[in-house]
Amino acid sequence: MAFWYFVGIVIGLRIVRSPVGAILSAIRDNPLRASAVGHNIHAYKLTAFVIAAAYAGFAGGLLGVLQAFMPPDAFTFETSGQLVMQTAIGGAGTLFGPLVGATVWLYLSDFFQTTLHLGATWKLVLGVVFVVLVCFLRRGIIGGLKDLGLWLAGRRWRGSPAEDAPAPVEVPRLASVGPSRRRNEKPFLGPALEARGLTKRFGGLIANRDINFSVGQGELRGIIGPNGAGKSTFFKMLTCEMRPTSGRIFFHGRDITDVKVARVCQLGLTKSYQVNQLFSRLTPRQNIVIAALAERRGTFSLDLLRRIDRVPGLDTQVEATLAMVSLTARADVPVVELAYGEKRRLEIGLALATSPSLLLLDEPLAGMSPHERKETVLLLKNIARGRTLVVVEHDMDAIFELAERITVLHEGAILAEGTPAEIQRNSLVQEAYLGGMAAA
Ligand code: ADP
Ligand code: MG
Repeated sequence: MAFWYFVGIVIGLRIVRSPVGAILSAIRDNPLRASAVGHNIHAYKLTAFVIAAAYAGFAGGLLGVLQAFMPPDAFTFETSGQLVMQTAIGGAGTLFGPLVGATVWLYLSDFFQTTLHLGATWKLVLGVVFVVLVCFLRRGIIGGLKDLGLWLAGRRWRGSPAEDAPAPVEVPRLASVGPSRRRNEKPFLGPALEARGLTKRFGGLIANRDINFSVGQGELRGIIGPNGAGKSTFFKMLTCEMRPTSGRIFFHGRDITDVKVARVCQLGLTKSYQVNQLFSRLTPRQNIVIAALAERRGTFSLDLLRRIDRVPGLDTQVEATLAMVSLTARADVPVVELAYGEKRRLEIGLALATSPSLLLLDEPLAGMSPHERKETVLLLKNIARGRTLVVVEHDMDAIFELAERITVLHEGAILAEGTPAEIQRNSLVQEAYLGGMAAA
């Protein structure tokens, strides 16, 4: 029995430290982003289910052999419920949490019954203990210990003033984040991305109306438009996060309208979000690792027993991406401790780590201080080298400086398209913006 227990723990540890383990914890953290960076989250969830079932099945088999019969209470709802409670006490999302939880639970139930002789009320008392534990240790005993460790470490960080200063402004380098290492990519000479007649309705509201849009390879395109013009919706359709009501989308000449978001990311098209979508329980480095793993391993791979640092090329990719978004010095600080500007850069880094050949950025400068804006504009110029970039942005100065061509969206339709100079002169655009301001 002890032998099998040991084997189970060793295999469990290997799985937790494998790429699959890292991806599973990322999926628990932010499933939307996990699939957006290119992981097939359904397949991974199924994997977790199968592994858990294998453990439970094997344990049940051993119990049967040990007791020489199967007690019928093994199949009751109460037994299953107890497992959930034990996990909650020990700490969900940790390998040892459920073990600790089960130990505490069994010890307490024994203690109440045999030592305190509580009789039939022991269940009630245990229930109260459970509620108290869950209220005060929301992440269980192991989670609580981890939080304590983090808190102590955090105090140490704050103690040293050098670490408190904002991240040093490294001049963004063109790191070797390959823009387009893509499996079986054929050279394609047409537009990088094309949308034909794209329309999106939300009930009666038409967010996007018959949009025809095309971006050339290597172009840096800006998209502007008042709030509610439908820019974010347009981006969501382009990356296949949302299905259009009608219209088709072509990426390098291939119709991707019905393709899943993870697959599209694997093809080399991804976006950063207007509202940060980070794996907030991980560090920046672990965040980037999750995105880079998708690029290295594809949508789904079952390397359960491989150590994560053995994935070829992963380390270089992660370091290069961190350097590019100037987060190397802050790579191992918990994400919640990052400054807002740093989180925004990490948001871009997550998209960048998947080595997209076409990157869509939804308001990358939103909420940044003037100084952070300057830095980020430099970063965007850097990113644009060697890949196609489409940027939605409200900061007119930045977008007129960055973009080669600009598309103006207004009330869900394209109002104008042209060079920055043409757009600035366009009377329709001026009216739309002035009208928007007058209404505000
Ligand atoms: P923008 O990014 O240009 O500010 P959005 O694309 O976010 O604009 O929104 C365009 C319009 O679509 C808005 O009127 C918004 O309320 C509506 N909208 C966006 N997403 C949804 C949704 N999931 N359900 C219903 N309406 C939505
Ligand atoms: Mg938006």
